Amino acid sequence: MTTATSTGGGSAPSVPLEVLVAVQDGDTAADQLRHRRARLPERNVLAGLEARLEKNATGAAELDAARRAQEARLAELAGEVDELVGRTTRIDDRLRAGEVGSFRDQEAIAMEMGLLGRRRGELDDEQLVVMEAIEELEVELNRLAGERAVLAGEIASLRAALGSAEAAVDTELATIAIRRADLAAEVPTGLLDEYERLRVRLDGVGVARLVNACCSGCHLALSASELDHSRHAPADEIVHCAQCGRILVA
Ligand SMILES: [Zn+2]
Repeated sequence: MTTATSTGGGSAPSVPLEVLVAVQDGDTAADQLRHRRARLPERNVLAGLEARLEKNATGAAELDAARRAQEARLAELAGEVDELVGRTTRIDDRLRAGEVGSFRDQEAIAMEMGLLGRRRGELDDEQLVVMEAIEELEVELNRLAGERAVLAGEIASLRAALGSAEAAVDTELATIAIRRADLAAEVPTGLLDEYERLRVRLDGVGVARLVNACCSGCHLALSASELDHSRHAPADEIVHCAQCGRILVA
C-alpha cells in the first residue's frame, strides 16, 4: 500500500473522530493503569516476604521432625535406664535376701553389676548428648518462630498497603470507565467497532493523530500524496494510515 486508504464513514466524522481520540486517550490511560496495578512495587516485596515465610516454615518443619526424632530417642534411652534400674534393684534384693550363696554366683553377679554400671554410664552420656541436641534444635526453632512472627506482621501491613494502592488505581479506572462510556456513546457504532478491532490488533492503539507528517501510531512519515489525501479527504471519509492501518486523524 502506498497511499492512505479510506472507507466510507458516518455523517460529520470530524467531531466523532475527535471524540474517538478522546476514547483512545482514556483507553491508553486505563491500559497504563492496569499495567501499573499489575506491577505495583508492593507486589514484588510481598512475594519476597512470602517466599521467606515459606522457606522458614519448611525449615521449621524439618527441625521439628528432627526434634521429635531426638525426643523419641530420649524416651527409648529412659526406657532402657528404667529396665536397667529394675535389674539392678532385683539383684540388690536377692543379695539382701541372702539368696546368693555360692562364690560362683557372687562372681557372676559382680560381673553383671559391672556390666550394668558401664551400660548405665553409656546411657547417661547419650542422654546428655540427645538433650543438648534437643536444646539446640529448640533454640533454632524459637528463632524461626520469632522470624515468622515478624514476617507475618510485615506481610499483613504490606497486604494492606497493596490493597490501598490497588483501590486507588481501581478508583481511577472507574472514573475513566464512566467518562469512556459517555464518550463512546457519541461515536457511531461502526466506527467504534472498527476502532476496537484495530486496538486489539495493534497494541492497544486503534486511532492515531497526524503529527508533523507522521502517523503517531507507527511513527512513520506519510508520503506527500498520502498527506495530501489525508488533509483533503471529504468530511465523511475515514482515512487510515497506509503503513499500520490505524484510523488517522489529521
Ligand atoms: Zn501508522
